[in-house]
Amino acid sequence: MNVQDRQAAADTGRKSIWNHTTPVVFAALFDWPFRPKAAFLSVAQRWYTLSRNMLFLLVAVLTYWLLIPDLATMQTLSLDWVLPILLRNMALMILLAGGLHLYLFTFKKQGKKLKYDPREDLEKSGKFSFRDQVHDNIFWSLASGVTVWSAYEVFYFWGVANGVIPTFGFAENPVAFFAWLLALPFIMSSHFYLTHRLLHWPPLFRIAHKLHHRNTHIGPWSGMSMHPIEHILYISSVLLHYVIASHPVLVIYHLFTRSLAPALSHSGFEQILVKDKKLIDSADFHHQLHHRFYECNYGNPDSPWDRWFGSLHDGSNEATAMVKERRRKMYQRKPATGGA
Ligand SMILES: [Zn+2]
Ligand SMILES: [Zn+2]
Repeated sequence: MNVQDRQAAADTGRKSIWNHTTPVVFAALFDWPFRPKAAFLSVAQRWYTLSRNMLFLLVAVLTYWLLIPDLATMQTLSLDWVLPILLRNMALMILLAGGLHLYLFTFKKQGKKLKYDPREDLEKSGKFSFRDQVHDNIFWSLASGVTVWSAYEVFYFWGVANGVIPTFGFAENPVAFFAWLLALPFIMSSHFYLTHRLLHWPPLFRIAHKLHHRNTHIGPWSGMSMHPIEHILYISSVLLHYVIASHPVLVIYHLFTRSLAPALSHSGFEQILVKDKKLIDSADFHHQLHHRFYECNYGNPDSPWDRWFGSLHDGSNEATAMVKERRRKMYQRKPATGGA
């Protein structure tokens, strides 16, 4: 289906809420009865073809080769090597989120093609720091996001340099390298579901996660616009590499997919188009629905935790009714007279 057909199809339903919709589907890896070929292709296509994740893996390899200092240097914590890591991560974030924002929202190079939310501009209102959604989102992404991301990276390499974090070389154990690579989507997706559900526990939501959810109309900078508590929790899946032997490239890659991918997944556009041709897959409807309805779709399309735990919103009106009921139960106080 070409872009125009998809737009036309989108226009036939839920016009008042969405400019564009797509089916909410999960990786076929978890379909039953099991379909081995479809399962393999669903993981391989999303993660290991010319995609954002392959791009991140490539940049992770280059970063490790060219930018990580030798272990002797990293044995002591010093700004000499910590600052370059912080600045490199900041540059990557500005390049990706800033580039997407300029392309999609400032210069509107794609118009509203494949854009889920019909609104054109991001918000300027008092609910955001600086009364400006974009400035707010940039501030939290850089000040908190890049700092927490870099801290995880710095402590990892400091631990490796001091021999307290186990590692292996690629030539020494290529099987383990590829096993990690295959397992990472499921590991990150499961961790994301669990920590995200935790963040929706009302007290924690009010303290931390509310900040991310001020964004109902999302843009590339919204992805990592989070409270520091959320950044610490969200990126903590990388701690697995602190205790199970891994390769440093995998750690850098893991951190990239945590910290850079949200710029794409929150871009608000299903794909990035250049002259109407797809450049790269970008956002998914699954998470767009989460930002609209809150109490649904806590996971991501890499594993169907939302289906398994009954929190899936597939875009239908029935699902919206289900979510409204869930929110009522979570947030409404019971009558003072008691009752079930
Ligand atoms: Zn989000
Ligand atoms: Zn949430």
